[in-house]
Amino acid sequence: VPPVLEMRDVTKTFMIRRGIFSPKQPLHAVNGISLKIEKGDVLGLVGESGCGKSTLAKMLLGLEPPTTGEIFIDGEPAYQGGSRTAVARRIQPIFQDPYSSLNPRKTIGSIVSLPLRVHKVGDPLSWRKSVEDILDIVGLPRRVYDSYPNQLSGGQRQRVAIARALIMKPEIVICDEPTSALDVSVQSQILNLLMDLREELGLTYVLISHNLAVVEHIATKVAVMYLGRIVEETDTATLFEKARHPYTEALLGSVLTPEPGLGVPDSGLGIAFPNPINPPSGCTFHPRCAKAFGPCSVKAPPKINDADGHVECHLYA
Ligand code: SF4
Ligand code: MG
Repeated sequence: VPPVLEMRDVTKTFMIRRGIFSPKQPLHAVNGISLKIEKGDVLGLVGESGCGKSTLAKMLLGLEPPTTGEIFIDGEPAYQGGSRTAVARRIQPIFQDPYSSLNPRKTIGSIVSLPLRVHKVGDPLSWRKSVEDILDIVGLPRRVYDSYPNQLSGGQRQRVAIARALIMKPEIVICDEPTSALDVSVQSQILNLLMDLREELGLTYVLISHNLAVVEHIATKVAVMYLGRIVEETDTATLFEKARHPYTEALLGSVLTPEPGLGVPDSGLGIAFPNPINPPSGCTFHPRCAKAFGPCSVKAPPKINDADGHVECHLYA
């Protein structure tokens, strides 16, 4: 059985100008990523803004073809000749902010059935039935069919966003910060719902989150991105017990720091995130790395795959 999702050496390069008179320069937003996700996995994708997570998510969703490399869903290519293929719809998104991602002028019934109408799946009679079924599944009363988003609570709106993602019966759901716009009490309800749905519907998730507590709670494995590469990837328990990459250590450290600046050792992240158009030489993390040594500024780090997972760092050569 092929993995439910596989990326093979995927890159995405944008040609951009820094100023109106400057020449276009390449920005390697995703710079050679290979990844396999098995059915039922919850892959936590972490890294600072600008690391390439959003670009990666867009490629997975069929919205942005890779510059080079390939993406497979159940062993079938997600793009052919630069266009998404039919398998691409097996991946659906749940976006970050249920307040802005739901059209305020449309009813919940209209919002949730939109993917069916766009993809011409079934007919108007079956749409209502499909929406009602999915409202049951996500724990919303059927009467919200005729409600508008502003008549619902934040948690209910996130359930609507989940229903909209599930209406196409996807195998993989990309959850981009699924709870960060919600109250803490509602967050755990939504996370529990996502985990129940994974069981009941056999879903696989890619969870993009800044919240490492959420990642530790629900991810089965974690990929850490830095400047377009996955610098470390391993199962969740291993990552939180013995992270190897200094960047991962810094990310975990900043979570464990209750009050930054109060005599806590520098995490190495005091220096700003570099400009991705002009990335540092060698290991791109070296200007911020507390453990940088001889080869780090001159040579790209080795890509190590062993029993503890994947890591790209000279310390483990
Ligand atoms: Fe730090 Fe060097 Fe490892 Fe890069 S390769 S993370 S600079 S120790
Ligand atoms: Mg982003």
